[in-house]
Amino acid sequence: MDHFLYRDGILHAEDVALPRIAEAVGTPFYVYSTATLTRHYQLFKDALDGVDNLVCYAMKANSNQAVLKVLADLGAGMDVVSGGEYVRARAAGVPGERIVFSGVGKTREEMRDALAGGIRQFNIESEPEMLVLSEVAQSLGMKAPVTIRVNPDVDARTHEKIATGKSENKFGIPIARAHEVYALAGSLPGLDVVGIDVHIGSQLTELEPFEQAYLKVADLTRSLRAEGHNIRRLDLGGGLGIPYERSNEAPPLPTEYGALIKKCVGDLGVEVEIEPGRLIAGNAGILVSSVIYVKEGEGRDFLILDAAMNDLVRPSMYSAYHDIIPVVEPAPGLEKQPYDIVGPVCESGDTFAKQREMVPLKANELVAFRSAGAYGAVMASEYNTRPLIPEVLVQDDQFAVIRARPTFDEMINRDIVPEWL
Ligand SMILES: *Cc1c(COP(=O)(O)O)cnc(C)c1O
Repeated sequence: MDHFLYRDGILHAEDVALPRIAEAVGTPFYVYSTATLTRHYQLFKDALDGVDNLVCYAMKANSNQAVLKVLADLGAGMDVVSGGEYVRARAAGVPGERIVFSGVGKTREEMRDALAGGIRQFNIESEPEMLVLSEVAQSLGMKAPVTIRVNPDVDARTHEKIATGKSENKFGIPIARAHEVYALAGSLPGLDVVGIDVHIGSQLTELEPFEQAYLKVADLTRSLRAEGHNIRRLDLGGGLGIPYERSNEAPPLPTEYGALIKKCVGDLGVEVEIEPGRLIAGNAGILVSSVIYVKEGEGRDFLILDAAMNDLVRPSMYSAYHDIIPVVEPAPGLEKQPYDIVGPVCESGDTFAKQREMVPLKANELVAFRSAGAYGAVMASEYNTRPLIPEVLVQDDQFAVIRARPTFDEMINRDIVPEWL
């Protein structure tokens, strides 16, 4: 469920009509709903009720400071994957004890900054990383709290670019080697081993891969405890999928996911962390764009939009599907026709959808890409010197620009022409 609905024939974000925002900021733009962000965070909290838990929002999905602030104020933790994200989380008011640090390539500098600033735990992904972290922590006279990310060799049955839990992926250590690696971690003076971490991929649309992974982690918890490790925290990662194609997709709900977690690890007496990103932010955002031209091609018609692959890369990068709907509600029974929906960038890959059935549209009409709140704005670039598009946050009947579109001068002035030229 989200808060982008037609009202009196016009698509709204909560109580704000989208054409109002379009007039104020120009198209294209992203708009996020505070109510949806809040609701999705709360769904996870409710799903884990009765278990000692921390929901750490995977902020790489959408790391705008205002979005982080909404979640931080609700008590969310954050899953960060870079030093920059750590600084963003702190700037949004998230205390260090609610931040977990993930990622395969943490640098010494990132480790030092997070240790000095306060961190709940590092999710360690390799032995070399473990050795370096122990050294860095010791040099600060500290012990770094760590979990070790295990790779359970489970097929997440998702797009290959976002599957992370198979043995061929770069993430974590093979679960078969866990005992050896935990023994090493336990012997390092700068580490405090607190738990186990697992994350098998993103946009999972079934519970079964989670179940396979979590049962393996539960077994590992028992056997590591038997070897004397004080495993008291399980970070179960993120990855729960969302319905991108609403007419025929119904991924598991957070309640069902929560029930599965309780079933798999509920009797272990551990603190549970989860790291949802997409499910919190994805359907809390849409991308609004206008039609520049309708071009009649050979045997097909093109809708040329003012949004492009640089603004929303998911269709070209992952062949991802996004529902695209007109902002003015079509009259019932209006016949649809197939369009190729494309952006203005000079690449054939700049295609959002091929032969998509849409009601007839004209130049200057607005369309909205649904489910664009996660891995949208954060993955945008200025390719073709197209400015990063504005982000807008709505709450009830108010809206605010939470990142402004840069001017061409601002963009150009970031470049520095050497004085010898
Ligand atoms: C990307 C990522 C997540 C979030 O995945 P979603 O599919 O957005 O829920 C969580 N944990 C880790 C370690 C990740 O890399």
